[in-house]
Order: sequence, then C-alpha cells, then structure tokens
Amino acid sequence: METVFKIINTSANKESPFDRQERISWWDQKKLRDAKVIVVGAGAIGNETLKNLALLGIGNVMVCDMDVISTSNLSRTVLFKKDDVGKKKAIVAAERFKEMNLEENAMVDCFIGDIVWDLGTGVYRYFDVVLGCLDNVETRFKVNRMCWMASRPFIDAGINELAGSVSVFNAPKTACYECNASESQYKAARVRYSCDDFKKRSISEGRAPTTQVASALVSAMQVQEAVKIICNKQAAYGKKIYYQGTNNAFDLIDLKKNENCLAHVSYDKVIETGMTNQTTAGEFLDFVSRAENSGANSVIDLRGDRSFLQTAKCRFCGKAIDVYKPSFRIFFDELICDSCKSKDITKDEHEERNYISDITLSSDSKLLNMSLDEIGFPKLHIIAVRNAEGSYKYYELSGDLHNVMPNIHKGLQC
Ligand SMILES: [Zn+2]
Ligand SMILES: [Zn+2]
Repeated sequence: METVFKIINTSANKESPFDRQERISWWDQKKLRDAKVIVVGAGAIGNETLKNLALLGIGNVMVCDMDVISTSNLSRTVLFKKDDVGKKKAIVAAERFKEMNLEENAMVDCFIGDIVWDLGTGVYRYFDVVLGCLDNVETRFKVNRMCWMASRPFIDAGINELAGSVSVFNAPKTACYECNASESQYKAARVRYSCDDFKKRSISEGRAPTTQVASALVSAMQVQEAVKIICNKQAAYGKKIYYQGTNNAFDLIDLKKNENCLAHVSYDKVIETGMTNQTTAGEFLDFVSRAENSGANSVIDLRGDRSFLQTAKCRFCGKAIDVYKPSFRIFFDELICDSCKSKDITKDEHEERNYISDITLSSDSKLLNMSLDEIGFPKLHIIAVRNAEGSYKYYELSGDLHNVMPNIHKGLQC
C-alpha cells in the first residue's frame, strides 16, 4: 500500500507547469528553454509579449527600452504597477519577466538607451528571434536593418485603435520592413532630427489611440509566430497578419520583396575581438592593422554607419569650433560659439562643417586617443574596416558581451 501512495506523490510532484503546451504534438519545451529572444520596446505591446514569453518558459530574453513608466502607460501594461511610475520600463519589465517565468533558470538582461544609436549591431547576432514592440518608424527601420545584417527573423507588431498587425520578416529570403516603405514613413523616421542630421531638443512622443486589448491581440499573434520559429514550424514568413477589430476582418497579406531595397546590406563574416568600446581608436587601429587582420594602412570606415563631426563654424559669426562628436549626440542648437550664445540671432550665416568619414593611424592624435564610445560606437558594435586594397572586414567589440548581457552570456558557448 505504501508503494502506491509513493507513486501518486511522485507523479504529482513531477507535473510540469508546461504540461498542457507540451501535449501539442510538435512542441519542444527544451527549444523554448534554450531560445534567445530580444524584445525591442517595453511599452503596451512589449508588456504583453514579455508576459507571454515568461508563461511559455522562454529561457533567455533581453528587454530594450529607454523610457520611464508614466501614469498613462498603466492601463496597457500588465507588468507595471502604480508604484512603478518614474522607474525605467526595461528594468521593471525584466524583473517581472523573471518573477513570472516558470522556467527556473530563465535569464534576462536589459538595455536602457536609444535603440537606434546605442544598441550595438553585434547584439542581434546573439538572438534567435527579434520581436519589435515599437511605436515609431525610425526604430523599426533601424531594427529591421540590423536584423537583415545579422540574418535574424524579425517579427514586427503594431496597433492603432482596435486594429493591429504582425509582420514576419526572414532576411534574406523574404521581404523586409523597408521593402515596401513609403515616402511618409521615411519622413516619419526623421522627426527626431533637424534637416542637417542633428538632434532636436524635444520631440512629442507618440500617443497613438489604442487599448490594452489591441496590444494583447497582436502580441499573442507575434509570440505565437515566434514559438513556431523556435520549434522549427512554418511561420508566416513574408506575410502581414492584419486584424481589424471594428468588424473582425482578418487578412493575411503577402509582402512583396523589393530587390532594390536600401536595407538589404549584410556582412559576410564577423571577426570577434576581445576589444570593447572603451578601447581607443588608436588601439583599435593598431590591432586591425596587423598583417593577420586587415594589414597596414587600414581605416575605420564611418560611412553607412554614423557620421562624426570634427570641426564646424559658429552658425552666426563663423568662428571655428572644435566639435569632435558623432552627429547623433549633437543638438541642432549646439553649433554656436560662446560669444554668440547670449545674442539674439536666429538666422544661420555659416554652415561650414568638417565631417570625418575615415579614421586612420595618421589621423590627429586627439581623435586617436578618443575611445570608440566617444567616437560613437556602442558596446558590442561591429565596425567596418577597409584595407589598403579597398576590401572590407567587420570587427565586433566582443569584449563587451558580458557588459551587454551579464546573465544571458553565461549560457553562450564562446
Ligand atoms: Zn527590404
Ligand atoms: Zn559665434
């Protein structure tokens, strides 16, 4: 009799929280546990998506967002409570993800910053699926390009009122987000910048009319597609799933691939290095200039990545100003000399600017002594280096891996 009781107890203790989903014939819980998913955006959709990933037992997640929680977020964010107002979205979302995850060894990391400029290109390579939970076109363009570069599936979700859509891109086989981009989308992607590429001091944040219900709907579809990808089932690659809640219309739209799409740029091979973005430009060039790397007279090529302003003339009086900053860190009203700052002048007279597109070992010492961070390269970025013959190699700042993902990197084989 005792033996019978023992058997019942053992089986009760052994019941997995994932029992019901594991009954699906093709399900592979181990694949979910090992999966690495990056969630860009921890707002309305991101909250739902992280909740879904946690309940499914996804084992490695990185949450990216730069914003803080505001009161108007609370009606759409299942992971945030009233007391969280003012805290960083990515930190709170990551904490709640970890608490809620039924996979005991789940790892979560977060990135707080500007996804467009401060999330290194290399980061995407370490994930199996990229989930876009964004509210603006500029970041979608950027994430899409990074996914194309790293050949990673990108599932983009969007909502408006009672409608929502989920698009599944699989570079380089299918269309990407930019393949069918319109002029108005390109225009929308520029709202944060002045016409000369500098940052505006303030921009009004997106306040799209929507509800929690719409985010829950699109997030459910987004995560379901992610699960299919992780379990090697056929996902809705190259398609947009569109749902209109007002009349319950449901469409599956084929996305046409544009062979001339500007986003179809990829590196063939990435060279992992022990360097970080605290390495100086001079040290980096010393390394890449070795014979076994890119060889003598190699250059850091900034074109196609980020622009760097060395000097400029004061907008008003023409006095020379040493800038030495990447354009994305310059505010449009910054290029004014100290003596003109107090004056009430509004008309630009001088727009002479000296940008740097290549950094070489013969660049000025001020530049060579700057860290790659100061030049504008984020942690774990991939830097394009051109050798004397004009061919390219791509070097990753892999020494940053443990800084960017202190938890997830423990499980990576490297
Ligand atoms: Zn494309
Ligand atoms: Zn001046």
